[in-house]
Amino acid sequence: MTKLRLAIVGAGPAGIYAADILLKAERNFDVSIDLFDHLPAPYGLVRYGVAPDHPRIKGIITALRDVLDRGDIRLFGNVRYGTDITLDDLKKHYNAVIFATGAVHDADLAIPGIELEGSYGAARFVSWFDGHPDVPRTWPLEAKSVAVIGNGNVALDVSRILAKHADDLLPTEIPANVYEGLKASPVTDVHVFGRRGPTSVKFTPLELRELGELPDVDIVVYDEDFDYDDAARAAVASNKQVFVIDKVLNQWRKRETGAASRRLHLHFFARPVEVTDDGDGRVGGFKYERTAPDGQGGVVGTGEIREVPIQAIYRAVGYYGSSLPGIPFDKKRGVIPNREGQVLWKGEPGFESSTASQQMYGVYATGWIKRGPVGLIGHTKSDAMETVRHLINDVGNWWRPESPAEESILELLDERGVAYTNLDGWHRLDQHELALGAEQGRVRVKVVPRHEMVEISRDQVPAEL
Ligand SMILES: Cc1cc2nc3c(=O)[nH]c(=O)nc-3n(C[C@H](O)[C@H](O)[C@H](O)COP(=O)(O)OP(=O)(O)OC[C@H]3O[C@@H](n4cnc5c(N)ncnc54)[C@H](O)[C@@H]3O)c2cc1C
Repeated sequence: MTKLRLAIVGAGPAGIYAADILLKAERNFDVSIDLFDHLPAPYGLVRYGVAPDHPRIKGIITALRDVLDRGDIRLFGNVRYGTDITLDDLKKHYNAVIFATGAVHDADLAIPGIELEGSYGAARFVSWFDGHPDVPRTWPLEAKSVAVIGNGNVALDVSRILAKHADDLLPTEIPANVYEGLKASPVTDVHVFGRRGPTSVKFTPLELRELGELPDVDIVVYDEDFDYDDAARAAVASNKQVFVIDKVLNQWRKRETGAASRRLHLHFFARPVEVTDDGDGRVGGFKYERTAPDGQGGVVGTGEIREVPIQAIYRAVGYYGSSLPGIPFDKKRGVIPNREGQVLWKGEPGFESSTASQQMYGVYATGWIKRGPVGLIGHTKSDAMETVRHLINDVGNWWRPESPAEESILELLDERGVAYTNLDGWHRLDQHELALGAEQGRVRVKVVPRHEMVEISRDQVPAEL
């Protein structure tokens, strides 16, 4: 019987679901899966993206952990594809690879002044408050007035974490340095800006409603944004999600404000124009053009320019995937070009077009790096089903590896001095974080520095820890 030695790069939900689906799939060959991640901990953006005050969503980790704990997948943490292992290595040891490397960088917002000091990408801020090991431990939270650009859930996460009092985050798993940073924040006003109207936002109703429950934070909405045209009224009448969002926003219009020490303003019909300089090379203001409905569900500029004084700005205008050495990349969309998960190329790697049509045998993609950075965790499951179906059917086109033995990859990593971690190591780190949390009456306290994560995982904990 044939055996499929499969490498999966990326231990986020997409990679873990792909492994799970393949192991459970009807097939006439054996499977042995090695799951690589450059982080010493698995779960990708569920651990390092989903906001710490969303424990229900973080709870998806329980289902992902059950898959890993079943014992039929080997986990290799702290191993970066492109540096620690290459495509040639994978070809030598496996029959195929699935890339599930997600998207971790901020998409650009091309307006003058966006490079000023005090202007940040939401993704980096999210990584900071979620304790990602590869971002600085401190975050400059000196602004009283902040702008957040974007009308999706990441904009809401960022605004909520900025506006929320640090003590209200203490029951969550936020790392100690994040609590200290947020506790010292002098912020009083967070302004969220979207180009279009309230009926065109990408917020989910649950996340929006949550804003209204933040202690000591007033939600401020502006009557001028609710002068709906026919298209907006039709959207409210025909779409349940839009109906609920409209209802929530309209309830806030009637609320008393003024008593809270912090305010979260929602501005609609605001097209970003410029981030202005305070004279010292730092963010001093945000200029936007007032837009108006165009009658077809879109907006047009009105020419009216407004400015709010701010000292920091966060752009939450989308995520963007990273290219991987030896693997084709569609620069425009930030994804690996693929047809239903089968990676496509033009016969040579490194091209940047989305017009490739030839299958790159043995190479597959799933999750955000396949589809782009949209959609919830659940969507990565259907992604994985599609990719795995092709992988199974492509049996005749798999690579024929020179060294398929399971030990050979361990030898390679050891030879290169890669300090890889494994599933037992993750269990050790997990237990360590839970124990740190228990000491403080909290669910978990995350270990942030990478070297500590690795030392704990590899059972090389310095005595003082
Ligand atoms: C701020 C934010 C909040 C979110 N909140 C929610 C929510 O509340 N509910 C919800 O359903 N969804 C939410 N999502 C969406 C959800 O996180 C994604 O749908 C999901 O994580 C995508 O899964 P993925 O496995 O494709 O990518 P990821 O989760 O990003 O996993 C990719 C993995 O690949 C690894 N990797 C990358 N490059 C390499 C490399 N070169 N070598 C080795 N490993 C590598 C990364 O370390 C990572 O572990 C949120 C997303 C963001 C950004």
